[in-house]
Amino acid sequence: MAYSHSQLETYQNCPLKYRLQYVDRIRTGRKSIEAFMGSTVHAALEKLYRDVLMSRCPSEDEIADYYQSLWDTTISDDVFVVRQDYCVEDYRQTGLRCVRDYHRRHYPFAGGAPVWLERKVVIPLEHPSGERVDFTGILDRLDSLGEGRYEIHDYKTSTTLPSRHDLERDRQLSLYQLAVEDAFEDAREVELVWHYLAFDRELRLRRERSDLERIAAEAAATVRAIESCEDFPARESALCGWCELQAYCPKRKHPVMVMEMRERELGMERGAQLADQYAEWSRRKKEAEERLGELREEILEFSSYHAVDNIQGSSCMLKLSRGRAPKLPPDGCEQRDELERVLRQCGAWEDASRLDARRAASLLEREDIDREVRACLAALISWEETPTLRVSRRRD
Ligand code: SF4
Repeated sequence: MAYSHSQLETYQNCPLKYRLQYVDRIRTGRKSIEAFMGSTVHAALEKLYRDVLMSRCPSEDEIADYYQSLWDTTISDDVFVVRQDYCVEDYRQTGLRCVRDYHRRHYPFAGGAPVWLERKVVIPLEHPSGERVDFTGILDRLDSLGEGRYEIHDYKTSTTLPSRHDLERDRQLSLYQLAVEDAFEDAREVELVWHYLAFDRELRLRRERSDLERIAAEAAATVRAIESCEDFPARESALCGWCELQAYCPKRKHPVMVMEMRERELGMERGAQLADQYAEWSRRKKEAEERLGELREEILEFSSYHAVDNIQGSSCMLKLSRGRAPKLPPDGCEQRDELERVLRQCGAWEDASRLDARRAASLLEREDIDREVRACLAALISWEETPTLRVSRRRD
């Protein structure tokens, strides 16, 4: 099995999305406008360099026209816009600006010789099990500068510029570097170049050998995590709005369905009714708890001041009993440690302490506990579902 950078990234962002996309292979045909713009810009720049390779140097207008006609012929209703402040036209213009700015900055493209364009690369990684795992990806452009010098170019249409620190965490181009070094024996100097087209900026990085080895090992470890994952949990984040698989996700399918309903239909939908009623009763419960707390304080004061334990109402009586409950010093303080020491010393620790399910379960994750002991604990601890409901004021 070969893994791509986007596969690993998808798993790290949301294991459920990974399962839906790469294991269940669900295809919706939907695409975010950002992804659509990115692929159209990539196609225009690929065309530009293919022309350069054929000794043609397209003008800025020619490449801009190519971008526009590709946009017009491929845009469809499956392309969706998430950010409500912007429309399709805004993205089309941004992509066009990226292409034009790039052309102006690099014309007449006389830098390195493009030896690879949109090339699929495969990098063998060493899986901790000893098996070979292939990392695969599409490298945007590889330039040869002669004398064993190469540049790996990557086009980005993101409207966020990464920091130096972000670049240093890069995995994708670093693994491509391994593929280039594998493919070209003379490769002695490889530079990673990101073109942040929306900013007309070029960011560069050189990797040390030790960085490449560390990144390859981390990628192999992520592959291992994917292969041993059984539950593929959904991980909600700000990225969910851009997820094409929301209709298959338990976290988002109902909100998406409700969003598409008209106001009249919404009132009839049982899920929406239940959510609204639960929110309303939770609000009333909270109000009631606050008021009960205030009354309780007032009643205790009244009781002390008048020295009465039973307070007669018009149709009920409040009975106050003054019991006592033991209170232990809080966790982490000196008295708590002392208490534990004394209990252990007199052999009463086991009587006084209680087995806590969550604490016991947390031991399963502890690497410092022997693997066999953890396996034994895992066999003894069972799990039951404990659903909790929380009212969020946000309407997705
Ligand atoms: S909508 Fe969010 S939580 Fe659900 S699969 Fe997509 S990314 Fe994951």
